[in-house]
Amino acid sequence: MNQADSGIITALLQGEGYVQAEQELDAGIVLLNTCAVRENAVERVEHFLQRLQGRKKREKGLIVGVAGCIPQYRKEEMFSLYPAIDFLAGPDTYRTIPSLVEQVRSGGKLASLEFNSAETYEGVEPVRQGATSAFVPVMRGCNNRCAYCVVPFTRGRERSQPVRSVIVEVQKLVASGYREITLLGQNVNSYCDADEGYDFAALLDAVSREAPLARIRFTTSHPKDISEALVQTIASRPNICNALHLPVQSGSSRMLDRMNRGHTIEEYREKIALIRSVIPDVALSTDIIAGFCGEQEEDHQASLELLADIRFDSAYMFFYSTRPGTLAAKTLEDDVPEPVKKRRLQEIIDLQNRISGELFQEAIGTVVEVLAESESRRSSEQLMGRTAGNRAVVFDRENYKPGDLLNVSITGATSATLTGRPEHIYFLS
Ligand code: SAH
Ligand code: SF4
Repeated sequence: MNQADSGIITALLQGEGYVQAEQELDAGIVLLNTCAVRENAVERVEHFLQRLQGRKKREKGLIVGVAGCIPQYRKEEMFSLYPAIDFLAGPDTYRTIPSLVEQVRSGGKLASLEFNSAETYEGVEPVRQGATSAFVPVMRGCNNRCAYCVVPFTRGRERSQPVRSVIVEVQKLVASGYREITLLGQNVNSYCDADEGYDFAALLDAVSREAPLARIRFTTSHPKDISEALVQTIASRPNICNALHLPVQSGSSRMLDRMNRGHTIEEYREKIALIRSVIPDVALSTDIIAGFCGEQEEDHQASLELLADIRFDSAYMFFYSTRPGTLAAKTLEDDVPEPVKKRRLQEIIDLQNRISGELFQEAIGTVVEVLAESESRRSSEQLMGRTAGNRAVVFDRENYKPGDLLNVSITGATSATLTGRPEHIYFLS
C-alpha cells in the first residue's frame, strides 16, 4: 500500500512539473512516505530524519516532508523532535503536498493531517515501478479494531473506489502492457460499491473478465470476511491466481480473542478447509505475531502447531511491538519479555523456513507457469518471475523478456526461490 501511495504522491508532484531525482543527494525536496505498523519501521524513519538534519543545515533550500502513517498519529510533535521537517501530510491529504511544498518555500512549518473518508484518489493515475505488475488500490482505511494495530488510527474509515473507475484503470494498464494486477486494500474483502451493488467477489469477477490477458491478485483479506462466493470466484476464473494471503496472527483462540480478531482458530481452520476443498492447488500465505500481550508458552505452541498443520507457502513473521493509541496500548500489558518474544519468533521463523523449504523441494521436477518480471539480481543471463502461487522463479533468459508468460521446468530450490529452465515443446514427426 505504501508503494502504491508513493506512486500517487509522485503523480501529484509530476502533475505540477516536478521530476523524480536519480538519487537522494540530487533531490531538492526529500519526501518520506512512512509506515507506522511496527516499531522498527518507525525507527528507520527516525534514523533517516536524524541523518537529514546535517544536510538540511548545509543546504539552505532543501525541503523535507514526511507523509503517510507516522505523521498521522504523531502529529505536530514531529516538528520539535525532528527539526529537519518542513511539512507533514497524512494518508488522506496527499493532494495538498504540491501546495505544501510551495508554501514552505517562504518559511514556516505546515501540517496537513485531516481525515477525509471520501478520499480514494480517484482520477490520480499513480506512477508505477516496473512495467509488468501493477498495484490498483480499490479500498482504503479499516473499520476493524485489532487490538495491536495502529492502521485504523492512521488511515481512517473504510471507503471504496467506484467499480467503474477500477475497471477503467485496469483496462488502461492492460492496454499499456501490464500483465499482472494486484487489487489492494487494508481490508480488501470489505470492498463495497453500494451504488452499483458490487461487493469484493463481484469486483474481482468483473476485473478478471475485463482483463483476460492479465493475472489478477489481491491483498489483504481478513479471515472473518472470506466468503464462499469469493472462494468460488477465485476457483472459477482462470486468470485469478490461486493464491490467498490470509493473516492468522496467532494459533490460539485465547490470543485471537485478546487481539479482537473476531474469529476463533477453529473458524480459521474451517475457512482454510473450505478454500482447499474448492481450490485444491491454492497457495496460502499468512502473517503471524509472536509475543502479544499475555501470550503463554501454550499459546505459542498453538501457533507452531497451526503452521505445521496448514503448511503455508510463506509467512510474514513479526514480534509484537506496542503501537501508541491502540486498544492494546491502552488496556493490555506488554508483558512478554523481549528475549522471550525474540526466541518465540525465531522458533516460528525456523519452522516456517523448514516448511517453505520442503514445499519448494517438492516442486523440483514439476513444470510451472511463470510470468517473467525482471532481470535476475545475480545474472543478466537469467530472468526472475513468479508462479500463480507467488513463488519466485529464476530461469535462463534465452529470448524471453519481462511480461512473457512461459512454462518453466523446475530443477532446483532454496527456501525462497525456485530455479529452472524454460520448457520447450518439441513436435516430432
Ligand atoms: N490489514 C491487514 C494487515 C495490516 S498490518 C490484516 O488485517 O491482516 C500487516 C501485519 O503487520 C499484520 O497482519 C500483523 O501481523 C502485523 N502487525 C500489525 N501491528 C503489529 C504490531 N503492533 N506488532 C507486530 N506486528 C504487527
Ligand atoms: Fe489492522 Fe486489523 Fe485493520 Fe488489518 S484488519 S488493518 S490488522 S485493524
